[in-house]
Amino acid sequence: MKALDDLITAFRRFPGVGPKQAERFALYVVRASGPEIDRLADILHIVKESVGYCPECWNYTEKGLCSICSDSTRDHSVICVVEHPQDVAAIEKSKTFNGIYHVLHGAVSPLSGVSSSQIKFNELIERVRNPQIKPREIILALNPDADGEATSIYITNALKSSGVKLTRLACGVPLGGDIDYMDEVTLSCALRGRTVI
Ligand SMILES: [Zn+2]
Repeated sequence: MKALDDLITAFRRFPGVGPKQAERFALYVVRASGPEIDRLADILHIVKESVGYCPECWNYTEKGLCSICSDSTRDHSVICVVEHPQDVAAIEKSKTFNGIYHVLHGAVSPLSGVSSSQIKFNELIERVRNPQIKPREIILALNPDADGEATSIYITNALKSSGVKLTRLACGVPLGGDIDYMDEVTLSCALRGRTVI
């Protein structure tokens, strides 16, 4: 059945969706009522037309500045740099950060051939150097992997002469973790980042 196969192929393009799950989604569509599918199609069109980038932080937003950038009670002098929009949501859930964000939409990856021009890297550098914005601190909240590390180095080198304070998230022992199960890189990172109690 070509139509059904095409739908399964379309769902397989979704991140994290395997062949079985794509088939379940497609069969759900076949079973669903006409109005339900019309509603789904409408929602897809509305999202595509109304959701875009915030011109300041590049997070997704429905119109103009996002709710975080337009919030005057937040500290606009501290910018937290993340790789993906979902990282903003995760940090917001922690309710411990009151600054603003910059979403790179990826990371520099020498292995996969992703260069700094393919992510919102230049936009970050311009933002930090803009005398009207002049942040006092940039927090690098990038993934603790090779790409996150490469991206950190790029950003640090580009902003070294700007005078802005550059910090990064502490890495180390997760809550509820067992020290003897921890790998040596995590453990050495935790030791280097130890704090006075
Ligand atoms: Zn924003």
